[in-house]
Amino acid sequence: MFVTDFIEKVARVSKALTTKSPAVPDVHKHAVHNPQRYRGMHEIDYETCIGCDSCNKICPTNAIEMKKLPFKKQNIVPEVNLSVCIFCGLCEDVCPTKPKKSIKLSGGRYDMLTGGWHEDQDSFWVNVDIPEEYIKSRLEAEEADRVKKELAKKKREAQAKAKAEAESKAIL
Ligand code: SF4
Ligand code: SF4
Repeated sequence: MFVTDFIEKVARVSKALTTKSPAVPDVHKHAVHNPQRYRGMHEIDYETCIGCDSCNKICPTNAIEMKKLPFKKQNIVPEVNLSVCIFCGLCEDVCPTKPKKSIKLSGGRYDMLTGGWHEDQDSFWVNVDIPEEYIKSRLEAEEADRVKKELAKKKREAQAKAKAEAESKAIL
């Protein structure tokens, strides 16, 4: 009995030492944290977000902070502190943008696994980094829209003035 146990143990240890597959799978190749119910970290689309603040208001743990953007409209976008987020998904549920939610839990991606420790809460955020070109083009579009509205307003005022003058002449 003793000899059999000993031989079995030796066989198990030898197999463990010589096997080629690692004890822990490479999570970047095999999404082990990818069950159907795993909701993953947030994806935030700054292009479709309308800055309504609903996700921030509904978050039960204050995990969301709205980042200010240099635009006149749609000038805030959410960022998420994953160290206090409870992954309830309410932010995604309440987001009104269609057909795609501007904030959504990525559904099974394993990006939250990192190689090291997070030294503080600030290193565990889903941040939104907007490229300079996008900011420039949005600002240009806003300025073009402002000029267009200004011209339309002047045109309306001129038409109203001309109409009033024509009416006063008709009375005389
Ligand atoms: S998943 Fe829930 S807790 Fe996390 S940011 Fe969204 S609303 Fe807040
Ligand atoms: S609810 Fe959606 S549209 Fe509104 S601020 Fe949040 S991400 Fe943007």
